[in-house]
Amino acid sequence: MSAKEHLQQAIAKLQAADCESARLDAECLLMHAWGINRTQLIIKAHDDLPSDVAHIFSEYIVRRCKREPVAYIIGEKEFWSRSFNVSPDVLIPRPETEHLIEELLKLYPDTQAPYYFADIGTGSGCIAITIACEYPNAIVLATDISEKSLIIARSNAEKHVVSERVQFKQGDLYQAFDANTQAFDAILSNPPYVSVDEMHGLEQELHHEPSHALTDTKDGLSLLRILLNEAPNHLKQGAYILVETGLCGLPKTPDAITMLYSYHDLAGNLRGGVYQY
Ligand code: GLN
Repeated sequence: MSAKEHLQQAIAKLQAADCESARLDAECLLMHAWGINRTQLIIKAHDDLPSDVAHIFSEYIVRRCKREPVAYIIGEKEFWSRSFNVSPDVLIPRPETEHLIEELLKLYPDTQAPYYFADIGTGSGCIAITIACEYPNAIVLATDISEKSLIIARSNAEKHVVSERVQFKQGDLYQAFDANTQAFDAILSNPPYVSVDEMHGLEQELHHEPSHALTDTKDGLSLLRILLNEAPNHLKQGAYILVETGLCGLPKTPDAITMLYSYHDLAGNLRGGVYQY
């Protein structure tokens, strides 16, 4: 059977399982199973699919029909045009989180300066590693409560050759810092902000992701509050904290910092806040 026929069968199965982007998912999974890119897929559409590839592809489709995210099946996800390793130990990087990078680049356009940045709750490391790549003289401290996620994050720092400038520490929010931690030029965080009520209505795919990376099991705002309240203890005077949020919105701004602005995603939803100390 040709690659095209295998694809058509797979798309029908994914549609029956209510996968929204059935064609795109099937193509991504076939390219990964076959080890080819999109151009090669078009060229080889009428070739017979080798039986070993067909076998791997059909296993991928079974997993995707159970609504396992494509990123976990292929083990990677693109963020800010770079590929990051992912596993079910880490949240899959989202396009909306790229806004944090965009805002930091606006606040600090001199990408050659030797800044000191922090990424709290780094997960796959996508924020910390991206800023280390974009600011080649910066040092970044990345923290996460999950030791397992730090293994993935470290692998991504190696992949993007920034291990020497990204330091990883295990700990809950600011508790990962010690007495020697210097004040930062900016702190960035995409913390768990899905409220416990919202968790019930999530797409099936999100149940494959680590729930401690999605929800604070409260109103969504509890970790954002701690991040903002304690930021002045860890920021240089005049430095910034940038946080992502979702439906829960942003907590009341603590007196010690000033909210500069909030930002919205391409769909017009509130997505984050930028504050200055
Ligand atoms: N953006 C994620 C979502 O799909 C939530 C990630 C987070 O809680 N930080 O809802």
